[in-house]
Amino acid sequence: MQRRKSKAVEMADLKIGAFAPISVQSMTNTDTRDLKATVGQIKRLEEVGCELVRIAIPDQKAVENISAIKEAIKIPLVADIHFDYKLALAAMEKNIDGLRINPGNIGNTKEVKEIAEMAKDKSIPIRVGVNAGSLEEKLLEKYGEATAEAMVESGLTQVELLEKFGFKDIIISLKASDVELTLDAYRLMADKVEYPFHVGITEAGTVRSGKIKSAVGIGAVLAQGLGDTIRVSLTGDPVEEVKLGFEILQSLGLREYGVEIISCPTCGRCEIDLVEIATEIEERLIEIDKQIQVAIMGCVVNGPGEARGADIGIAGGKNQGLIFKNGEVLKKVAANQLVEELLAEIEKI
Ligand code: SF4
Repeated sequence: MQRRKSKAVEMADLKIGAFAPISVQSMTNTDTRDLKATVGQIKRLEEVGCELVRIAIPDQKAVENISAIKEAIKIPLVADIHFDYKLALAAMEKNIDGLRINPGNIGNTKEVKEIAEMAKDKSIPIRVGVNAGSLEEKLLEKYGEATAEAMVESGLTQVELLEKFGFKDIIISLKASDVELTLDAYRLMADKVEYPFHVGITEAGTVRSGKIKSAVGIGAVLAQGLGDTIRVSLTGDPVEEVKLGFEILQSLGLREYGVEIISCPTCGRCEIDLVEIATEIEERLIEIDKQIQVAIMGCVVNGPGEARGADIGIAGGKNQGLIFKNGEVLKKVAANQLVEELLAEIEKI
């Protein structure tokens, strides 16, 4: 995939942009003032591979927890701040790794200048996060509704506010809950700036419905070669956001994230219980940390091709199946032995 060339921005030791691997991030949904709950959730996020985490900073008490959170975790920490520029300054005093603010709602020109100068001084990147649901009144009047043009104009105006003070460590996001609007906004912005993109579909929904919308929306933007870091937004456990983020990247061949299962939907030609076999194999491979493709196919129509193309795979036959490894037939196995035999071979990889 041809990716858009963007400028590199360093968030602590995480590089975003300039063809760096597309990172997966999330945001805690704990009360940041509750140190134990927030650190506990970030540790769970780290366990599933989260590479950057954002916390809401609603007040000074939340700022006071930044140092302790940073000490307890390994990944870069970003403060999400609205309306009060003093909180942004205070978070930077605590050496936060990044800020997410909207220069348009954080304070007057003098206050934005203070933030930009301090962020520049401390090399703290800022994400300008445009959200279709909170566009400026005057843009809604000008465009009639939240259009891609309105979102891009909002983003550019906010970026210019920072650039005016010599600040260029910027990441841009243009989020909407509408997939087409999001895609149009990123496409339009891609021609106008070199800053890296944080991609997401906002207010996507619950874990069940939001997964589909996020996969389609984020996937569509990524498939255009746009996007340097992603965040899935789900009403639910943020751990699911991280897992899905990696799965989206893996399905586009942009990152590897554990075992990738390729399995057919089965049909009238299938003569083994492939649904049960595939389900059991998937469950038993969840915790396996190997970057491999496993094909689980019902018959000889597409089975041998997929199984040969994967690192390891099964092509079903009548009450039996062939196991393929590295493109070759390894052995013929009875259907009731396929799961154990395949897992034993995967163990050896
Ligand atoms: Fe049907 Fe065979 Fe295709 Fe699976 S691989 S869907 S069993 S034809």
